Amino acid sequence: MNLIPQALTPSLYDEDLSESEQQEILHLQQEILAAVAQNLDHLAVIRQVCLLEEQLLPDAVASVMLLDEQKLLQLYVAPSIPAEGAARLSNLRPGPHAGSCGNAVYRGEAVFVSNTRSDPRWQELRPLALDFGLMACWSMPIRGAGQQILGTFALSSFVGREPNAFHRKILEIGASIIGIVLERQRQEQTLSLLGKVFESSNQAIMLTDSQAGILEVNRAFSDMTGYSAAEVKGQRPSLLSSGRHDRAFYQNMWRSLQERGYWQGEVWNRRKNGEVYPEWLSITAIREAGQITNYVSFFFDISEQKATQARLEFLTCHDPLTELPNRLIVQEQLSQAMVSSARRQLQAALLYLDLDEFRTINASLGQAVGDQLLRAVADRLRQLLGEQYPLGRLDSDEFAIVLAGVEELDQPAELAEQIIQAFLKPFVIAGHELICTLSIGIALYPEDGEDGDSLLKKADSAMSHAKQDGRNTFRFYSESMNRDAAAHLQLRTGLRRALAQGELFLEYQPQVELVSGRVIGAEALVRWQHPQLGRIAPADFIGVAEQSGLIVPLGEWVLQQACAQAAAWQRAGQPLVVAVNLSGVQFKRGDLVDSVAAALLEHELDPALLELELTETILIEGTEHVLDNLQRLKALGVQLSIDDFGTGYSSLAYLSRLPVDKLKIDQSFVRSLRQVPANATIVRMVVQMARSLGIRSIAEGVEDAQARDFLLANQCDEGQGYWFSRPLAAPALSALLQAGAGHLPPSV
Ligand code: C2E
Ligand code: CA
Ligand code: CA
Repeated sequence: MNLIPQALTPSLYDEDLSESEQQEILHLQQEILAAVAQNLDHLAVIRQVCLLEEQLLPDAVASVMLLDEQKLLQLYVAPSIPAEGAARLSNLRPGPHAGSCGNAVYRGEAVFVSNTRSDPRWQELRPLALDFGLMACWSMPIRGAGQQILGTFALSSFVGREPNAFHRKILEIGASIIGIVLERQRQEQTLSLLGKVFESSNQAIMLTDSQAGILEVNRAFSDMTGYSAAEVKGQRPSLLSSGRHDRAFYQNMWRSLQERGYWQGEVWNRRKNGEVYPEWLSITAIREAGQITNYVSFFFDISEQKATQARLEFLTCHDPLTELPNRLIVQEQLSQAMVSSARRQLQAALLYLDLDEFRTINASLGQAVGDQLLRAVADRLRQLLGEQYPLGRLDSDEFAIVLAGVEELDQPAELAEQIIQAFLKPFVIAGHELICTLSIGIALYPEDGEDGDSLLKKADSAMSHAKQDGRNTFRFYSESMNRDAAAHLQLRTGLRRALAQGELFLEYQPQVELVSGRVIGAEALVRWQHPQLGRIAPADFIGVAEQSGLIVPLGEWVLQQACAQAAAWQRAGQPLVVAVNLSGVQFKRGDLVDSVAAALLEHELDPALLELELTETILIEGTEHVLDNLQRLKALGVQLSIDDFGTGYSSLAYLSRLPVDKLKIDQSFVRSLRQVPANATIVRMVVQMARSLGIRSIAEGVEDAQARDFLLANQCDEGQGYWFSRPLAAPALSALLQAGAGHLPPSV
């Protein structure tokens, strides 16, 4: 701040002033500057000015009045005016008759009254003049930095006098120096006020220099970051980085500050204790003469807002009672499931669940119990489904489950069945034991609908059918699916029982060496004697067994039976290679090699008398696991054959890599040898190829002598079919062999 007001300097050498007067003015200035330099407080400086002025003008008192907020003049400093006089110098409203000071403010210029008793400008203050013997009064406006009038500086004389140049000068000096002191005091006040604002702001504030070195931080900064002001001063703001933002993020921030002088956004920072938190940060560049001198940053912690926001978002997509995704999300999951299933050319399913007696429970036990039950239902479902299937709540007591990538239609039915079973267990709510069953409707994509809405509608209507059919059950939307599902379910449960209660048995179909007509082997074929349905063909239950995984225990049982029988024939001196069919599922799920080894050992069977029939699909899937299993089986000494050869993708490439002993030419070619000439060619080619690879060949479905003759002529090794024998119970086969001395047909 320029402490030497212009009023002081130019007229120092005023021609109207005598040399001694000029000396005195110089002296006055030095005294005042000394007071200011001593940093006396502003009141003391103003008092000092008044006293110095009084020294220069005998028989006079100096006074300073300031305008208040109501624009009334109030006495501020007047060291020589007695208290009674001072008391009367208040609430003076500026005006044309309001004395010298009132006029100085009113006119905005210096006012010199030489005779207060007669001057009209003193009309309103005449009694004051009389009471205190004031004769002359000179007053000058005190102006602030913006030239606005702050008040007046006056010299009042007890003698009538006209001001000379010197008097005007000292009045002017007094007013301007007091203006400066007052202005400075205001600025200090503002600064300290700003300091208080800075310190008490609950936004963290950080001030840096142009090189981003930290100059000041406030208390909120320390509270938020855990760093005290002393710890961060001189450091750079990167002290707070969380490492969550990349270089580009900060480059972008700096560019914006350089170009626009401003940046704001969300930043993840790290507190002193290591905790990472989100804050809202705004940085402003402060420029002076076009150059950035400082940056000031304001920031506040938004972790709570973020948590609230996340909660709000959660609430818009979730049902607050059960915390399950709501209908909106279910629809979203459904469309995602449809897209992903379509891409894999699979189906998707929607299960629509509705509690059976919820309304009654709600009405009789009250809504609070109803709510608790819904929560318990949601928990039970969540537990059952785990992470695998998304679950949502559609409406009061309606839930939905979305299944994507459905391979087997048994999958949704089985899940529905599992849920229904799980709900037979009672819920215990507020001391009540409640059984709450549910009805489930199932709709399939794309069969029943190609969009979410129609699937929801169809699943809903299927659910209504489940209710109509007595509740506590599930229904598909499509009737044919319902029939299949019912039949499958019956088979599945029946099969479990069949295994446990010995309703399964094996038949053996002979395999004949074509050249000699000798029976050298037999294929073990499983049969099911159902107590109500009678005999069920394997074609009708093997698929169900595979889908439900029951094929693993079933296959194990067949293996055991077949080995036992083969061992019996071995002991009876009538050794036959017994062929056992294997399912791909056994390869994937069972510990096949171990159970084969165990069966051989247990029945003391020569491994060469056991043959395993594999399907081409097992081989084509040809994973390392399969290959490894085949090698290990081969190492046990058993024979491996490929069943139904020619019906699969018949990639011949795998044959040379696999330890296979025999190809079984599919019966569809053999049975139609004469009708379809192409099939004869296929059979011939398969036989030749097998020979060239050193693999034996067997033709299935030999139903007449012509087929046998054709095969013999084309060097096929073995035959199997009704012309030789139908599959027979073991004792019947033994008898047949004995009768024909091990040859089929016996006549040969
Ligand atoms: P497959 O392995 O191809 O078995 C041959 C099927 O052809 C048997 O039917 C057999 O009775 C029938 N067959 C035999 N010779 C002739 C003939 O000259 N003409 C006609 N038209 N058919 C003949 P089956 O016993 O009904 O078995 C059907 C399928 O069930 C089997 O086909 C096999 O894939 C499966 N299977 C049977 N037993 C088992 C088993 O224990 N485990 C596994 N995984 N699958 C089995
Ligand atoms: Ca077979
Ligand atoms: Ca076959």
